[in-house]
Amino acid sequence: MSDLIDQAQHYEAINLAQSLQAHRRRAETESRPAARGHCLNRECLEPFEAAASSRLFCGPACAEAHQRQMALARHRSGR
Ligand SMILES: [Zn+2]
Repeated sequence: MSDLIDQAQHYEAINLAQSLQAHRRRAETESRPAARGHCLNRECLEPFEAAASSRLFCGPACAEAHQRQMALARHRSGR
């Protein structure tokens, strides 16, 4: 009997790890939007040079501001 319980706990641990991983992946793609050649902070929109085309923000402050804006947009759309 204890073998069965051990197995069940083992599978539960795997499930948990997998769902955590999936969640992390989702969070990563959500928080890493496509580069648009300018700062994604709507209050900034500073254009970047072509060489920095994979850049998303001018700095951490703009990244934070953008994250707040995204969270707000999600909140407003009811999700
Ligand atoms: Zn910026």
